[in-house]
Amino acid sequence: MQIHRLSPEEALKALGTTDQGLSEAEAERRLSEFGPNELQAAERIPVLAMLGRQCTHFLAILLWTAAALAFVADWMKPGQGMNLLGWAIIGVVGVNALFSFVQEYKAERAIIALRLLLPMRVKVLRAGEVRETSASMLAPGDVAILAEGDRVPADGRVIATVQFRVNNAPLTGESVPKTRTAEAATEGPLVESANVVFAGTTVLSGTARVVIFATGMSTEFGKIAHLTSGVEAEMSPLQQEIRKVTRVIAAISIGIGLAFFGLGVLMGRSFWENFVFAVGLLVANVPEGLLPTVTLALAVSGQRMAKRKALIKNLVSVETLGCATVICTDKTGTLTENRMAVTRIYLDGREIRVSGGSVTTEAGGPVTPDLLRQWAPLFAIAVGCNNASRHHDRDGAAASTFVGDPTEIALLECAAALLPNGPDLSPRVGEFPFDADRKRMTTIHATTSASRVAYVKGAPESVLSICRYVLRDGLVMGLGEAEREAIVDRLNAFAGSALRVLALAYRELPDAAQLPLMEETEGDLTFVGLIAMYDPPRPEVPDAVARCRRAGIKPIMITGDNSRTALAIARAIGMVHGDEALVLEGSQVERMRDEELKAALASPEILFARMTPTQKMRVVTLLQEMGEVVAVTGDGVNDAPALKKADIGIAMGIAGTDVAKEAADIVLLDDNFATIVNAVEEGRAVYENIRKFVTYILASNIPEIVPYLASVVFRIPLLLTVVQILAVDLGTDMLPALGLGAEPSDPNTMDRPPRSREERLLNFPLLARSYLFLGPIEAAAAMSAGLWYLTTGGWEWGIDLSAESPLYRQATTVAFAAIVICQVANVYACRSPRASILSMGLFRNRLIVWGIAVEISILGLIVYSQIGNRIFGTAAFDGRFWWSLLVFAALLLLAEEARKGIVRRLDPGKGLRYQEGTA
Ligand code: ATP
Repeated sequence: MQIHRLSPEEALKALGTTDQGLSEAEAERRLSEFGPNELQAAERIPVLAMLGRQCTHFLAILLWTAAALAFVADWMKPGQGMNLLGWAIIGVVGVNALFSFVQEYKAERAIIALRLLLPMRVKVLRAGEVRETSASMLAPGDVAILAEGDRVPADGRVIATVQFRVNNAPLTGESVPKTRTAEAATEGPLVESANVVFAGTTVLSGTARVVIFATGMSTEFGKIAHLTSGVEAEMSPLQQEIRKVTRVIAAISIGIGLAFFGLGVLMGRSFWENFVFAVGLLVANVPEGLLPTVTLALAVSGQRMAKRKALIKNLVSVETLGCATVICTDKTGTLTENRMAVTRIYLDGREIRVSGGSVTTEAGGPVTPDLLRQWAPLFAIAVGCNNASRHHDRDGAAASTFVGDPTEIALLECAAALLPNGPDLSPRVGEFPFDADRKRMTTIHATTSASRVAYVKGAPESVLSICRYVLRDGLVMGLGEAEREAIVDRLNAFAGSALRVLALAYRELPDAAQLPLMEETEGDLTFVGLIAMYDPPRPEVPDAVARCRRAGIKPIMITGDNSRTALAIARAIGMVHGDEALVLEGSQVERMRDEELKAALASPEILFARMTPTQKMRVVTLLQEMGEVVAVTGDGVNDAPALKKADIGIAMGIAGTDVAKEAADIVLLDDNFATIVNAVEEGRAVYENIRKFVTYILASNIPEIVPYLASVVFRIPLLLTVVQILAVDLGTDMLPALGLGAEPSDPNTMDRPPRSREERLLNFPLLARSYLFLGPIEAAAAMSAGLWYLTTGGWEWGIDLSAESPLYRQATTVAFAAIVICQVANVYACRSPRASILSMGLFRNRLIVWGIAVEISILGLIVYSQIGNRIFGTAAFDGRFWWSLLVFAALLLLAEEARKGIVRRLDPGKGLRYQEGTA
């Protein structure tokens, strides 16, 4: 196709469309003909590869080796049951691989599903009207409107541009801004043409209209796309820690195994007996299932965050969120609703109050027709220098909505209410788009008198400084100091009552063949007036700010808006209390040295106004140098570097550009500050939950090891076989552990300071609680129950029992049952490291209840079913013994309650609130 060689008109014609876009009906027809504008996933999740990986990692290989040795043993010395052990180990690898695979698969699917929650929106012209639709609804012939920060949704031929530059890096790998124009190309291939934009690339600046000529898999990007599942392979620090810990434990187990092997040889045990022992120690100790369980817990937490409207893009950020110490947030739309309404106008030295459709003077009297006439120039700028547009409903009903930037929509709404016939507008011939550095926007219009006029609107500080004249009673006069001061006073008064203020000005330009440069146009302006609008704070934000502070996280507002407006809003939402708050403007920040700025950042209440994205980036960098874990919000193209630099980059899902969303770690589906705080809470909760199930899983290692040690050291029968250990690790323990991973967050999760990023998951208190407290209690239970059973059955020290004797089988079954029953109690103990079980509602976590039901069913099968008996070498024991096992479980709970009571007494304040909260 040679579309780049055609003129814009020819290109439109060739695609059977016009510069007004397709009609809705035609667009629909084409969509069904060409299919949705989507890339098909080229790469499915490689199920077999994932399964294969689970069978070939470090631990699996260790176990394979053990199995091979067992078979060798059986071959050398048949009849010892060594082949059974080999099969059991293979069973472990298999069950473990399957379980891990299911968890990883679920985790991966969860993240992919999250990605799909974020549809790409695009503006298209349909029958002359601007509409916002999903990018997948685009069809060839559609005319799309692209603006700064957009991701190009499909391949298109440019038909009109304003300062339009794109970044083709996703396609070419070359990250240089490329200017795009509408002119026909005379030479070169399509892909190098300056009048074509490609799907997947991004708009760096300006705006353009493009007619789409290829969608979906027909786009250049579609042709080369290897759409991956979108999951970042990077392991989070927590996952890395778990992997390392599992390996360390495996190494230690091998060490202990070898030591006892030597000891066994010295004590005259046979080689194979020692071998079984070493293998038993290994499988008993190594928490094989930990890594996938942790991964799944993180992914499930990501899903919970998404339910609360925070979309995470990788598992690392789930974890980092819990460590956040500072949240740098912008104001408009995040702390406020981004629903603006004009409430004040300053014009001709007079203030006019606007409320709904009614207007009054400052004194409260009606506005004279005289004044109404003088509005015309003000509204010509407000409506002319404006990219929002009205969108009529399909059935042509009077009801209409506006699409575009809320600030600009407010201007259009106000104009529609006060000037029903609208201002006289001359056609627009050029535009210098708004950007967050200049903080203003200019449009150029061709007037009838063969000259042109530039309309400028923007932040008053940015506009007033380039004004030389003022419009007074319809006459242009020099803008004197007194007048300037009067304007600034009025600006300050508006801003002080939390209003967002825009200044409007114009400049007559001589007609010329070429459009003037931006620098020439934006100078010597004539000031016309101020328009102030109110953007209410979001109702949920004050509470979120308070929660943030209680949680030891410092919220810092970094806004492009005026400092007084910013301060007034900060007060309204409780971000600033006293008069001590430090308010810094971008221009001041610019003059400060790093050390000065760091000192300022250390003050308890600080906010930044009139900031540019570069200054925001500097604040983020300095905060990081100060050791803070920084979350930062952003929406524009220029915010992308700060979003990338921050520990947690947060983009706005509604108001944010595609570029910002791509650079971010998290996308807020509702643009709401409160959502960030909720996500932090989830991030903290998942970490606490992981600690809970790790405590639970590690605790059962001790009663699994002790019978081995006891059998070697005290020469008593081995009270727990390798297969029974496996039944605990891979059978009964699994579901309750998952249940602990799904515990709802403690009500006082956000009353604690953030966790240090250096803190290890497996810290001393956790290991001590598992290995030195819970574990030994369970070991004591298993050993005493088993030995008691043996002695009541007539066994005495020194008597050798065969592995097949009913008494031996029953005794191991009792020990096994003791561990399982103690683990049931342990699940409840582990639900909180400090809150009493009684305060937590026994049935509140359904997954735990189900987990326990399954755990007890498995126990029942292993003890009472024939097949269970055969596989696990068990036998039904005297039913009265169950009572003694229950007593052990109760003792474990009592011991835990006592420990928790002591912890709460030593460190009051945290656990107590929990009980208040649940009472
Ligand atoms: P925040 O940074 O909290 O989102 P903001 O919207 O005020 O606040 P910017 O988008 O950087 O931040 O805008 C900076 C200033 O530029 C605004 O305060 C306003 O005065 C002016 N401004 C915003 N939008 C426009 C626009 N479309 N045209 C002209 N000026 C604008």
